[in-house]
Amino acid sequence: MTTLIDGKALAKKTNEITQQRVSSLAHQGITPGIAVVIVGEDPASLIYTRNKHRKAQKLGIYSVLNQFPATISQAELLTEIDRLNADEQIDGILVQQPLPVQIDPAVVTQAIAPDKDVDGLNPLNLGKLFAGEGGHYPVACTPRGIMKMFSEYHVDLTGANVVIVGRSILVGKPMLALLNNANATVTLAGSRTKNLSALTRSADILIVATGVPQLIKEADVKDGAVVIDVGINRLPSGKLAGDVDFAGVKDKARLLTPVPGGVGPMTIASLMEQTVDLAQWRHHG
Ligand code: NDP
Repeated sequence: MTTLIDGKALAKKTNEITQQRVSSLAHQGITPGIAVVIVGEDPASLIYTRNKHRKAQKLGIYSVLNQFPATISQAELLTEIDRLNADEQIDGILVQQPLPVQIDPAVVTQAIAPDKDVDGLNPLNLGKLFAGEGGHYPVACTPRGIMKMFSEYHVDLTGANVVIVGRSILVGKPMLALLNNANATVTLAGSRTKNLSALTRSADILIVATGVPQLIKEADVKDGAVVIDVGINRLPSGKLAGDVDFAGVKDKARLLTPVPGGVGPMTIASLMEQTVDLAQWRHHG
């Protein structure tokens, strides 16, 4: 019997707690603030950034949505980031990716002040994560949301054999560090991994973040595995699909995230939660 992980319900619960934290900070005269920066007109990015902006406003977080033309130079964008780094009202800065070719995403993430790095992509924060440091620092929101799912659904990570397919800096790599810090044994696979199916079949926990629709089929999953599908793909029919063949895997996995309604809502909820964390750390340490 497969249990579906209800990302929507968990996001709602997380957002309610965030809203309460925002209210109690308001009593101390503190309003957490986020700046969402988008460059260009990529339709999916426009939807994502608007959703983040609206959700922040709904939770009582001060939010600004800064949209720049696709022709903006890297130097101009860096000047905007510097301005946000110095803005007292802003606790978290998120620059939506992908960025146009003239802009190096690594330069952008390095320009965001580490204590305002709400996406957890600044090398200083990534370094702390990979060093397994304790203390306060932001981590990438999608892996953070997935860790909350594991906790909510009582998934035992200690000694678990985890396979992550997809090794981006946004998802796969920080996920590896978080899980390894939680004492899981983690393998990170990519497009050049040999015999991927044998590897995924060995996983107690399988996390897929490739952007390849329905890459993982029933035969690639171990009986009773926990399967987390990060992918969001628009099919030619207009329907959304994940990187996992949901219908095939549905009765084989023990726990499975649907697309939509799984990882996606938790990414936004984690972003909101982390914005409030950053405000709290800035004001109270
Ligand atoms: P990237 O394009 O940055 O990375 C994709 C990764 O998948 C790469 O490491 C690549 O390997 C690997 N890959 C591609 N094809 C294969 C294959 N056939 N077999 C094995 N590995 C493969 O993507 P992102 O990490 O940014 O996003 C991945 C997916 O997750 C997308 O669908 C995106 O929309 C979604 N996403 C969803 C979020 C959510 O909140 N639900 C948040 C972020 C992303 P290699 O490195 O070898 O090229």
